Amino acid sequence: RSKAAGRNQLTFFEANMQAAAIRRLKLLAELRRALPDGQLELCFQPIVDLATGQVAKAEALLRWRNAAGALLAPDSFIDVAEESGLIHEIGDWVFRTAADHAKRWSHLLGRDFQVSINKSPVQFQRQPDGTDWVAYLEGIDLGARCINVEITEGLLLNLSDTVLSRLAALQASGMQVSIDDFGTGYSSMSYLKRLDIDYLKIDQSFIKELEHDNFSRTITDTIIVMAHKLGLKVIAEGVETAGQRDCLLQSGCDFAQGFLFSRPLPADQFEALLRR
Ligand code: C2E
Ligand code: MG
Ligand code: MG
Ligand code: MG
Repeated sequence: RSKAAGRNQLTFFEANMQAAAIRRLKLLAELRRALPDGQLELCFQPIVDLATGQVAKAEALLRWRNAAGALLAPDSFIDVAEESGLIHEIGDWVFRTAADHAKRWSHLLGRDFQVSINKSPVQFQRQPDGTDWVAYLEGIDLGARCINVEITEGLLLNLSDTVLSRLAALQASGMQVSIDDFGTGYSSMSYLKRLDIDYLKIDQSFIKELEHDNFSRTITDTIIVMAHKLGLKVIAEGVETAGQRDCLLQSGCDFAQGFLFSRPLPADQFEALLRR
């Protein structure tokens, strides 16, 4: 009896695996159409200068409006894009679209306006290099400083020569580089010495607990002090309350991003905010 039950469980397990695999294949087939069918969108979330309260920059965040009309966040499809290699084309589209908006908004404001994009570790592995980002910026006559490339510590865990030379090329071009989700990775901080990083983005998990948890407060304060001593600027992610903002202001944090200021917005709404 127990043998039969075991067999049934196995079958149930296999059926689940199969259903998951089929869902994934279906998602991949749909994602292949996303770019050619114009279903990808960028939202822009303001990054606020804490001292002045003004919108200083924006982070471009990917959204997918699928054929059924649902708006999907990246967590539900980025891993499939990475595994399938679709992330290369998608990432190039994100870059070009973000650069076009940075150009438009720099023109609107009469000064450099910087837009951040997220670049996943997989995108650094492509052989050979894809779209020439530097050439694209020259083509639209946008200063490279207007692009900030956010990478995660995962990229720095095993720094291959390919990754290292591509990071160096990015930095040499004048694009800026941020470490995203800082404090959650496992890599050694010695990379801060070897790489020319411009910004640290303190992960939301520390900000969430800022007001009530001394540990998170200490980590946050320490990151800010360390970053400043190394000549880096700090951006706090996931700021949702005025109390969190006040803590960050007290600690000398440079920039903040989060629902307290604004959710990620469609480009036209973000532009309306800039005009105000
Ligand atoms: P991330 O780069 O750390 O982006 C911040 C995430 O936090 C965004 O989620 C944003 O909507 C969310 N967020 C912002 N403020 C708050 C807040 O106050 N509270 C809370 N709870 N959340 C807040 P989103 O847009 O779903 O993106 C998730 C992740 O997907 C990003 O994390 C990034 O790692 C990845 N991603 C987004 N766009 C792209 C892209 O174009 N390419 C690649 N490769 N990855 C992307
Ligand atoms: Mg990011
Ligand atoms: Mg630099
Ligand atoms: Mg983050």
